[in-house]
Amino acid sequence: MKWLRYLFGFSSHSHAKKAGAPELAERREKEPYPPLPEIDPATAPSQGFAQPHFRFFPGAYEFGEDGEAVFKRHNGPCHCCGMRDIYAYQKRPYWIRRDEPVICAQCIADGRLGILLDNGDNYSMHDCQIEGVSDDNPDIEEIEQRTPGFATYNPFDWASIDGEPMAFMGYGDEEKWKYLGEASAAMCEKYGGQDAYPSPYFLLFKELDGNRYRATLDLD
Ligand SMILES: [Zn+2]
Repeated sequence: MKWLRYLFGFSSHSHAKKAGAPELAERREKEPYPPLPEIDPATAPSQGFAQPHFRFFPGAYEFGEDGEAVFKRHNGPCHCCGMRDIYAYQKRPYWIRRDEPVICAQCIADGRLGILLDNGDNYSMHDCQIEGVSDDNPDIEEIEQRTPGFATYNPFDWASIDGEPMAFMGYGDEEKWKYLGEASAAMCEKYGGQDAYPSPYFLLFKELDGNRYRATLDLD
C-alpha cells in the first residue's frame, strides 16, 4: 500500500500557495528558472557522505522501503554545493523547477536550495499545514525548508503540541509501533477512540524533548 504514496513533490496547488500567484506563472513564461550548473565530477570535492541530523525528521536516513527511501548514497555531484559522495535526496522540493537537480542532505540541512531558484522564488520540502504553531515560530522555516520530505498521499497536517511543532517519526503501519503504547494510543485517539493500528494512513509525530505522540491522517 505504502508505495502508492506520491514520491515526488509536484503540486501546482503547492506552488500557488508558496510561491504566490499567477504573476509568477506569467513571469515564468518569459523567464525560465536558472539552468543547472555543469559540474565536472572528476574535480568535484568529496563530501564524505555527510549525514546532518534533522531534528524534525530524525530517522530520515533509515526511512523508507518499497522505493520510498528519502536519501540514497550517490556519487553526485550535488547541483547545489558541487560536491560528490553525498546522500542524495530522492524526492523533489515543492518549487517552480520541473527538472531534477541532484540535491544532497547537507544542502537541505543548510537551507541552501534557494541557490537553484531566482531571487524571490520560494520552496517547501512538504505539502503541509503546521497547525497550532505561531506564524513567527522559527521552527516553521526549519520544517518547510531545512527538513527533508517523505512520501504522502495528499497535503497533510504537521502535528504540534503545546504550540510547538513535533518531529515526524513514521507511518502508522510500521512494526515498531506495536511495542510503543504512546504511538498506538495517539492513533486510537485520532480515530475516535477505536483501535487503529496498523494503518498506513496515519503519520506519527513525537514531541522534540519528550515522549508524547500525536497522529495525523493522510488519507488516500
Ligand atoms: Zn549539496
